[in-house]
Amino acid sequence: MSDTPGVPAPRHAADTYGTCVLLKHGEVFLKGRNRHRFTERLHDNLRLALRGIGGSTWIKSAQNVTVLGGQVPQEALLERARRVIGFNSVEPAVRVPSDLDAITAAAVDALGAIPHGATFAVRTKRRDKRFPLTSSRVDAHIGARVLARVPGLRVNLARPDVTLAVEIDRGETYLSWERLPGRSGLPVGSSGRALVLLSGGYDSPVAAHRAMRRGLACDLVHFNGAPYTNPSSVYKAYALARELNRYQPPGLLHVIALGTAQKQLAVAGAGRLQVVAQRRLMVRTASALASRSGAEALVTGDSLGQVASQTLANLVAVDEASALPVLRPLIGWEKQEIIDEARSVGTAGISVLPDEDCCTLLAPPRVSTRAGLPRLRSVEKRLDLDEVVETLLGAARTFRPGADEDAPVPSGDCPAPA
Ligand code: ATP
Ligand code: MG
Repeated sequence: MSDTPGVPAPRHAADTYGTCVLLKHGEVFLKGRNRHRFTERLHDNLRLALRGIGGSTWIKSAQNVTVLGGQVPQEALLERARRVIGFNSVEPAVRVPSDLDAITAAAVDALGAIPHGATFAVRTKRRDKRFPLTSSRVDAHIGARVLARVPGLRVNLARPDVTLAVEIDRGETYLSWERLPGRSGLPVGSSGRALVLLSGGYDSPVAAHRAMRRGLACDLVHFNGAPYTNPSSVYKAYALARELNRYQPPGLLHVIALGTAQKQLAVAGAGRLQVVAQRRLMVRTASALASRSGAEALVTGDSLGQVASQTLANLVAVDEASALPVLRPLIGWEKQEIIDEARSVGTAGISVLPDEDCCTLLAPPRVSTRAGLPRLRSVEKRLDLDEVVETLLGAARTFRPGADEDAPVPSGDCPAPA
């Protein structure tokens, strides 16, 4: 594994032997007796991520490691595997028979490609204890052969430029020298299903991604201000959902036009409570929607105190209207941390685009930071809330952004891309 800038991974070795990709398990490996269930889920998600890659692939299980290979370029395997949540690291590797001569030849070939003067170390892990040499003897054997055959290299065990990892399994051995970070976490779906309230901003897509990393399969619901706003926020929500669905077996995106109900709240005298009253209507509607699709919790991108509608009192007032628990993965995050993560997830470039957000429609000049429940209830009493929710759900449009063409799309037409 090269951790020195400027030292290129000696990839040409991969052409000489069978190439593969090593996927090191994340938290799955902590899961005692349930481990096989989590591993199966992880592999199901990996298989789904490999669909349509353009050639046959195979997956092999070793202890806390998944080996991935196939008749497709290694780069393509890496690209797909790096999106699957549940792997701590993703390593391009070569695969040889578990035979000391074959392993040594592959090691010489791999390290023969690193620059003159660079330092290296060999670290062997012997998962098959029947292999005749101990790990440290394999290290020493390979190190000596490399020094003899590749002029200009030096050993540095403390701070090597390149670390060659040798993992000996029964029958096969894997050599790797580059470690790419994976998405870690628990396999999507292993913790159940949630419904994420997705706006067009930075926060809620990052919250969705964090929820996925704790094992939640996520459906998404976006409220727009139609008929009083243009559809720009829907295009953004669709593009965000497509990006997020690359990390999970594609979930649904529901789009609900909230404008008319927002007007009803304003006419009922919500005043400074308008934003919190709208948010309560969103979670009420989302709870009803979630129970129809088997989601057991809602997820939002709230961060405590970030804006007036996210004070503790207002979050409590919102929770009171939800029939389901409201999870807030970003509650303690700062805005800059959220934006940095949005860049890494790949949603920042979409979130930054301008849109007409339903929350700014009818927003009062000053939002109450302490929306009292009695006042909220007296505003809501002037509407028939059950009927409002039914009407909103009746007009919801549903998509499955990013799914294969043959996957079922429950209803609605796809909006134009953002
Ligand atoms: P974001 O960047 O996610 O838009 P924000 O800082 O703008 O967050 P708010 O507008 O107060 O915060 O929204 C808080 C949370 O409420 C959002 O993270 C999202 O989960 C939910 N939410 C807000 N607006 C909508 C919407 N139009 N549709 C669905 N959910 C929404
Ligand atoms: Mg927002």
